[in-house]
Amino acid sequence: MSPLRLLILAILFYIAYRLLVGGRRHKEVSNDRQKEKPYKEMPADDLLVEDPVCKKLVPRQQAVQHRQAEQTFYFCSEECCQKFISQEGEGK
Ligand SMILES: [Zn+2]
Repeated sequence: MSPLRLLILAILFYIAYRLLVGGRRHKEVSNDRQKEKPYKEMPADDLLVEDPVCKKLVPRQQAVQHRQAEQTFYFCSEECCQKFISQEGEGK
């Protein structure tokens, strides 16, 4: 047997091994994700507000608040809030 064939065989075995292990690990990860369910504890009747940056609906209690000119804006994240402020700052 030539060294090249041995190398190819070794690579094939390695790939087969990785597929076996990787497949198992993938299953475990998806199971963990099902357990998490981040918004499960949120009450269903919690008031939803719209993020003016990404148009996502977020529960007001969890939203990032920003007061501007007697108006309160709600954002899904600090990132969207910063984006909104910088957009306003650029002016028209
Ligand atoms: Zn957002």
